[in-house]
Amino acid sequence: MNNCQLKVKIFTLFPKSFPGILGLSIVGDALKQGFWQLEIVDIRQFGIGKRKVVDDTIFGGGSGMLIKPDVLGSAIEANITNITTTKIIYPSPRGEVFNQKKAFELSKVKEIAIVCGRYEGIDERAIEEYRMEEISVGDYVLSGGELPAMVMIDAIVRNLDGILGGNDSLKEESFGNGLGSKFDNLLEYPHYTKPQVWKGREVPKILLSGHHQNINDWRLQKAIEITKSRRGDLC
Ligand code: SAH
Repeated sequence: MNNCQLKVKIFTLFPKSFPGILGLSIVGDALKQGFWQLEIVDIRQFGIGKRKVVDDTIFGGGSGMLIKPDVLGSAIEANITNITTTKIIYPSPRGEVFNQKKAFELSKVKEIAIVCGRYEGIDERAIEEYRMEEISVGDYVLSGGELPAMVMIDAIVRNLDGILGGNDSLKEESFGNGLGSKFDNLLEYPHYTKPQVWKGREVPKILLSGHHQNINDWRLQKAIEITKSRRGDLC
């Protein structure tokens, strides 16, 4: 389809993980409508010998196994035609921590490949050879790169043109989008829906006033208060 803005290729030992949650709701609808494309490459198919071996022990000792660079190399070279124009990401706790700014930046890239590690990870030479960018989803260790890949894709796809109805919903979300909105680097203000009174708790009066300027001022004030009290590092 010609409205495709982003092609994503996932290299994984667990192809059944996808599309998973990426096939549902806003991001899944965008996939069905062709705003973005998803292709899964099963690393195992490039394994060595009859047993399709993909991993081996680590030089220098230590526990655990590592995904072999030759196996990964075959998978990448058979599936990525232009290694220089494709952004190859390796989800890794060693990378810079993913954030909204990065999600927005990556939404402007046309082709992204994500290499999901397993076990102790992948051979360092594969990271160097294919100039992979290491990106972390936070300071904790998961057992594979599949969940980080999903986290990143979800956040990236929300930033594609035409996905979230009005762009205002992006601008006023937590963190803004770095495009100069007054809500940039702020966490979101509180939201309320019907009923107007629930368990004795009332919706703040100002939100019922119909006075847009006052409502906007109140929302900005709340966003600043919440950000200062919870995430002083952001503002
Ligand atoms: N030995 C590695 C961790 C391996 S965890 C280390 O200490 O850094 C197995 C795989 O899970 C990794 O190869 C990576 O792709 C993924 N992973 C684990 N935690 C992650 C995180 N916080 N961010 C992104 N990817 C992560």
